Amino acid sequence: MNEKLKKNHSAPKGFTLIEMMIVIAVIGILMAMGFGYYQRAKAQALIKTCKKNMFTLEGAITQHSLNTNNENYSETISDSFINELVSAGYLKDPVKCPFGGTLKLENSSSNNIKERTIRCSIHGTRHEP
Ligand SMILES: [Zn+2]
Repeated sequence: MNEKLKKNHSAPKGFTLIEMMIVIAVIGILMAMGFGYYQRAKAQALIKTCKKNMFTLEGAITQHSLNTNNENYSETISDSFINELVSAGYLKDPVKCPFGGTLKLENSSSNNIKERTIRCSIHGTRHEP
């Protein structure tokens, strides 16, 4: 008789529904925060990839210009021009904006030195933040 009473008043085993819901809510909040950080880090990495691609392409065009004595390049960077640079060995792989931005070539000259800058329609130039 005494044993039976003790059993009924002992602490319940397992978790209550409220406890489970709180745990699930906390996990959900942590996952949402983690996903936000992940998305931001991923976007930052892709922007850096675009800037790095601009730098690589500027170097490749400069090399091409020096080797071929070509000074005039079209503002529009076509896929065929990129492929030409790859097949001629100026680029290892075709470069493009990971966000699908259009790359354009800007020619400027200061003190008789031609400068070429790549501008991405989404990310601007590599010098811009
Ligand atoms: Zn871009």
